[in-house]
Amino acid sequence: MSDKKFLNPTPILDQLEKGPWPSFVKGFKEYAEKSKKPILRGLIDQLEYSYKTKTGYWKGGTVGVVGYGSGVISRFSMVADKIPEAREFHTVRVQPTPGFHYNTKELRKLCDAWEEHGSGIMTMHGQTGNLQFVGITEKEVQPFFDKVNEQGWDLGGAGAATRTGNSCVGPARCEMACYDTLETMFQVMGHYVDQIHRPEYPYKMKFKFSGCPNDCNNSIQRSDIATIGIWKDKIAIDQAEVKNYIQKLSKDYLVNHVAMKCPTKAIEFKGDSMIIDDSNCVRCMHCLNVMTKALSIGKQRGVTLLMGGKGHLKVGNMLGSMVVPFFKMETQEDLDNYIKLLDRIINWWADSALDHERIGETIERVGMQEFLEAAGLQPSLDMVSHPRDNPFFKAEY
Ligand code: SF4
Ligand code: SF4
Repeated sequence: MSDKKFLNPTPILDQLEKGPWPSFVKGFKEYAEKSKKPILRGLIDQLEYSYKTKTGYWKGGTVGVVGYGSGVISRFSMVADKIPEAREFHTVRVQPTPGFHYNTKELRKLCDAWEEHGSGIMTMHGQTGNLQFVGITEKEVQPFFDKVNEQGWDLGGAGAATRTGNSCVGPARCEMACYDTLETMFQVMGHYVDQIHRPEYPYKMKFKFSGCPNDCNNSIQRSDIATIGIWKDKIAIDQAEVKNYIQKLSKDYLVNHVAMKCPTKAIEFKGDSMIIDDSNCVRCMHCLNVMTKALSIGKQRGVTLLMGGKGHLKVGNMLGSMVVPFFKMETQEDLDNYIKLLDRIINWWADSALDHERIGETIERVGMQEFLEAAGLQPSLDMVSHPRDNPFFKAEY
């Protein structure tokens, strides 16, 4: 048996395997030697060539499956004449389950299909929230999609489309959940399924769903429309458990680590009791996260809608701004009304935005007043972060 190595020599990439840190080169090479997939040998050869010439050689193009205009990120090599095995290295985006939980049987079927048709390399879930299947040729894209689609999976969004959504695990496993993140994401994504598969917007539109202000999904930073669970009434306090905390940790500890760290100083410990001034609570979650046994979210639950979060490009990174402080989300009717509100907002943006303009940028350009009128939303004092401080500014009368 020949002991010839499957991979070609890569003296420059080899340098990246040295040193104390884990190396992506080592991982790729090990897997390529084991799987003997030519597409991976081509990828490694092209990377070596890129380091040698200090130039990147991937370009886009159009690759898709029948009936869809989105979901496959194409990568064609500009040096295919030199490295034919790296001719194509496309990525297929598949929408995840709400809450990112899978059973092993379904995952094995996905992996088997990917082993058969693609490079065998996948990422979960990356910046986009997708199951990303990285490295496939155009010829294999349709058969791979057909196979996973038969299992019930669908392609995710790419380009100027509604993008793949993601939600925290919410009520399935978390006591902080103020609404059903899983069902809400499922229904919202279902409502916009056409816009996921057929890009028709000025630019991308991302939804994320977090069950409470802990925002485990980073929806404020990373989505145009962030739906975050919230409660309206009081934090529930179990004073017997407060007493237990005091006995175990001491009152000084709780004063220093809970009361003093409340951003609005809404907490007081009196004797063995804890008092919260709920009218001053800004729902930061700190006390609930520390004293999980003693404190729980309130009973009047719903969602807050924040809009405009995004990363880089144009005006730079933006956090979402609050546009609806509280929206009841208990019944199917509430969810239907929420989706109608989203429709109004997105239709306005689709008509008003410039090319390649995210919704937060559009609102910033035309002004909050125009946006609120179009969306049929009431202005609220909560939307003002601080009072006017420029004495030279004069309103026009
Ligand atoms: Fe739980 Fe809140 Fe995190 Fe969702 S965002 S998993 S509800 S802590
Ligand atoms: Fe204070 Fe935050 Fe607790 Fe509200 S949730 S009482 S703001 S620590």
